[in-house]
Amino acid sequence: MKVELVRYTHDPVEAAGRAGGVCYDKEEKEDYGKFIQGIVRSGHESVIEHVVFTFRVEGVSRACTHQLVRHRIASYSQRSQRYVDEGEFDYVIPPSVHRSEEARKEFEQTMDLLIGEYEKLRDMGVPKEDARFVLPNACTTTIVVTMNARSLRNFLRVRLEKHAQWEIRQLAQEMFDLVKEVAPPLFEDLQSLRDTGREE
Ligand SMILES: Cc1cc2nc3c(=O)[nH]c(=O)nc-3n(C[C@H](O)[C@H](O)[C@H](O)COP(=O)(O)OP(=O)(O)OC[C@H]3O[C@@H](n4cnc5c(N)ncnc54)[C@H](O)[C@@H]3O)c2cc1C
Repeated sequence: MKVELVRYTHDPVEAAGRAGGVCYDKEEKEDYGKFIQGIVRSGHESVIEHVVFTFRVEGVSRACTHQLVRHRIASYSQRSQRYVDEGEFDYVIPPSVHRSEEARKEFEQTMDLLIGEYEKLRDMGVPKEDARFVLPNACTTTIVVTMNARSLRNFLRVRLEKHAQWEIRQLAQEMFDLVKEVAPPLFEDLQSLRDTGREE
């Protein structure tokens, strides 16, 4: 999995702080960080919708991105299996399969079989958009996702949590680390969730 923060609102904490300041007729703040922490704590979260983050995510499974795109308050652009040839596709092996030699062998044989079937169908003239029906959830993909800070916090809350599946949880941890680095006051209250799967 490779996760990059490719773009985000310039000076995110000040941007949110200035937007929130309008509500109280106080746009100039000495400490935007403290102000934003208070805003987040109070639940006045529309203020942080003015800040957006764009990530490029590579090498995750289609199973993972299916979970990701359920988060509706976001924008997505994903590698298309209709238009891009998936011959010799890469795939993600879940840790539970990887741990067992027997399961891993079975899994890899199935992937080899599906790669062969996909290519056979393509050779028969079946278009990519129909040959893709034999592709597995394990198939890797690339997706660009943009979320505002409010929606991203909602995503992080449920996907850093211990009940989230390991792959999307890892994705959420990487996204969290990237945004916490550039906008600590917007996200640092979620640190314990990132580390333990539980909120303080
Ligand atoms: C552990 C776990 C297990 C899951 N298991 C399943 C499963 O078995 N089957 C399944 O189908 N999904 C499952 N989901 C997906 C889950 O139900 C949500 O669809 C997904 O997490 C997106 O969350 P969201 O709706 O909060 O995000 P968004 O779509 O980004 O919405 C953000 C927020 O906007 C508001 N909102 C958005 N749309 C509406 C609306 N139409 N009405 C009212 N409020 C709205 C809500 O407050 C919502 O929290 C699971 C999620 C998790 C974390």
